Amino acid sequence: MNSGTAQLNQETIREETITPASREHSDTLVHLSGVSRTYPMGQAEVTALHAVSLTVMPGEYIAITGTSGSGKSTLLQIIGCLDRPTQGHYTLSGTRVDALSDADLSHIRNAQVGFVFQAFHLLPQLSVRENIELPLLYRKLTRQQRSRKVQAVMNKVGLAKREAHKPYELSGGERQRVAIARALVGDPSLLLADEPTGNLDQKTGDEIMQTIEGLNREGVTVLMVTHDLVRASRATRVIDMKDGQIL
Ligand code: ADP
Ligand code: MG
Repeated sequence: MNSGTAQLNQETIREETITPASREHSDTLVHLSGVSRTYPMGQAEVTALHAVSLTVMPGEYIAITGTSGSGKSTLLQIIGCLDRPTQGHYTLSGTRVDALSDADLSHIRNAQVGFVFQAFHLLPQLSVRENIELPLLYRKLTRQQRSRKVQAVMNKVGLAKREAHKPYELSGGERQRVAIARALVGDPSLLLADEPTGNLDQKTGDEIMQTIEGLNREGVTVLMVTHDLVRASRATRVIDMKDGQIL
């Protein structure tokens, strides 16, 4: 069997076992088409997102702004495969994800998405190193392979001297660096950050922004929700939201 056929077979197996959805928009990273998200509220419905269409190319750095309740977090959660549209289509890296099963959705999320939240969301009983290693435990890697990846990403975000510390022994900025390292350790195609500097003072927030911008310069695609219009203006594209729609 020549290597071309071997590659084709591997591709076919992957296609069938991991990504059963149809493939489209293969050059774009994110393609949302008419995506809505409603929540039942008693007899009525709340519309968090209304017919949103959005295309993100690899390498972009996008800031999402808008007043509280405008749908920013809902949009990010759908893009990050933490939630699903109630209507519309979503294609991530060429795979239709809106129709996937929960198991396939988790699989795609683990492989493709790194998430950073305002409130860090670290596990308090685990060390810095163990927190960062978590996403890798779902992958077939040896202990040594995991260790190398964790070390590389700790060095990248400036945490190498903190590896044995617990989250409560760290400053807010250091905690957010752990969250960023954890988001990046699996080499995601997409880094999503929901108000990542919201719990930090100005100076620490600026440092975290520099880290995020540095990662984007290295090729990481970033979507970041922020209230700070000065920070937003540093992105390559700003998306302003109102009432569940992109203005
Ligand atoms: P933002 O992040 O811009 O503040 P969200 O995406 O969190 O906005 O929320 C958008 C709208 O959807 C708001 O009106 C909010 O109350 C509503 N919403 C968000 N999550 C839920 C939920 N789990 N159940 C009901 N309504 C929700
Ligand atoms: Mg929000």
